[in-house]
Amino acid sequence: MRRKALKYLACPECNSDLDLEGNISESNSHIMSGKLQCKACSKDFPIIKGVPFFCLDPNNKIVEKNKNNFADEWIYFTSVLDEKNEKLAKHELDSYFQPLINYDELDNKTVLDAGCGGGRFTYVTGRETNAKEIFGVDLSNAVLSAFKNTKDNEKITIIQADITKLPFKKKSIDFIYSVGVLHHLPDPKHGFSSLVKFLSEEGKILSWVYGKEGNSLYITFADPIRKLITSKLPFWLNLFLSFVISFIVWIIIWAIYFPLNIMLTRKIANKILPFNEYFGFFMERGFGDFWRTVIDKMIPTISYYISEKEFKDWFTSNNLNHKILFRNGHSWLGIGDIKGNKNQVKSKSNLAQNKV
Ligand SMILES: [Zn+2]
Repeated sequence: MRRKALKYLACPECNSDLDLEGNISESNSHIMSGKLQCKACSKDFPIIKGVPFFCLDPNNKIVEKNKNNFADEWIYFTSVLDEKNEKLAKHELDSYFQPLINYDELDNKTVLDAGCGGGRFTYVTGRETNAKEIFGVDLSNAVLSAFKNTKDNEKITIIQADITKLPFKKKSIDFIYSVGVLHHLPDPKHGFSSLVKFLSEEGKILSWVYGKEGNSLYITFADPIRKLITSKLPFWLNLFLSFVISFIVWIIIWAIYFPLNIMLTRKIANKILPFNEYFGFFMERGFGDFWRTVIDKMIPTISYYISEKEFKDWFTSNNLNHKILFRNGHSWLGIGDIKGNKNQVKSKSNLAQNKV
């Protein structure tokens, strides 16, 4: 972390200011080691390999296993942001942002990537926007990869913390996005509400979650296997199993879905083939990314599928104007801002009209 990031940070316990203390070592304008100490409650938070760690001792075993599984995934698949991974990350982030917000709307704003994993979207946000400061926060050790991937961008700070207990000053963030993260928390709605507290007066929050709608086959047949078996297996075994499953499905996609989409048109294929839009998205992105998505479905100890009604409630109960879209036939994408904000988001939530 850089010294300039300190002015945005606060104690996650009591929200007081933090001091930089301990044996501080610096490299390339980053503080690589030392500690942050709360001025009020004196609690210490160590800085390890350039990353401040705010949540080192969670007691919840399920959350701990969840955290470690995701760290393994990010470290295996995207620990290094090479040109191919960068391109995939940009393509994916575009697909979340473009229907709801332009990169240039983040000019001179403070931005938070809540649940940044190995930092691929944080990196893209740093490259595509003129944001003032960008924070990437994750609970897992993948923050160490995220730091390596983003350390050359002066705007980016990577932080290890629980997103339900963030170490920021209240109302200090202008734009928060949390993509594919909240449905893996023990209480997704609480996670969303915890983020909203940090939005500035004119702030906006964007989130993407698994939908209950469009996933009934998956929820009935595949999700119980995750819950009972695969989330408990070692990572290497899931890596192998997910490869076998992905490979078989990949053959089905190209041998059956691809020709039927050409013969029948995509519109008709969407109606008769389950997951057609979803598979179409991965045909463009390639096998490696499909494999990562399959393992991403197998390893979480916690996965919720959120209905449109529940997702809408996250925004309305936090008093946010919102716009919600149904994405790829199986998930919800939404943006909200605080009511009374002069740049209000038009509040339209309609499954049929707003298909992405
Ligand atoms: Zn404190």
